[in-house]
Amino acid sequence: MEVDVLSLLAKLQSVADDIDRLDARRKAATEERDRVEASLQGAQDSLTQCRERLHNLDIERRKRELGLKAERERSSRVKSRLGEVKTSREYQAVLAEISAAKQAVTELEEALSRDMEAVEASGAEIRELEAQVEGMQTDLDRAGKTLDDVLKDTEQAILDRRSEETEVLRSLPLEVVDRYRLIRMRRGGLAVVEARNEACTACFMRIPPQTYIEVMRRSRVIQCPNCHRILIPPQPVAEGPTGVGE
Ligand SMILES: [Zn+2]
Repeated sequence: MEVDVLSLLAKLQSVADDIDRLDARRKAATEERDRVEASLQGAQDSLTQCRERLHNLDIERRKRELGLKAERERSSRVKSRLGEVKTSREYQAVLAEISAAKQAVTELEEALSRDMEAVEASGAEIRELEAQVEGMQTDLDRAGKTLDDVLKDTEQAILDRRSEETEVLRSLPLEVVDRYRLIRMRRGGLAVVEARNEACTACFMRIPPQTYIEVMRRSRVIQCPNCHRILIPPQPVAEGPTGVGE
């Protein structure tokens, strides 16, 4: 009976390992999809901001164009007054006004040219972001498809392993199941390990000779004195689990 318990425990651990591996594959594929999705969202947000910025720049540019047009008209009105001046003093005043208007036109032209550059740069940035978003959309489609495939691939295997697990758990004494669960929870999923060369293969601590002999005899459920995992004799090399890909 106890011999049976140890075999069942070995089986239980192996099935639990399979389930953990399958779950890890699903988790990794889900995380990858989420990561790509977050990157895409980030790029889309940047694109939205960039488009808003371009919109505002364009408003500024149009305002500047109107201002420039008005300033050019003012400049030509002032120039036309040159013919009407009577005194040298008036002449000087109009000249000063012309010069001021010219200065204003030059400044507006420069500002407008800077506006155009900013609009162009913003446009280039948008095109770059659009290309990025497009690429990320493709990545997301691919990651989504991979996730679907992984979920589909692993679903049946997990169901099969779970029913195997349930069956084994049902065959074990409740006290052993409780112990197994507690150790598995406390020891990162690994509750049943082989003892080899008078040592625990999980924590590598030496096992007292008398205890080791008991483990090899499979006389009862023995825990490692150091890590408290359940010790079993070396298992024959398994032919590998079926339906569990990496
Ligand atoms: Zn140990």
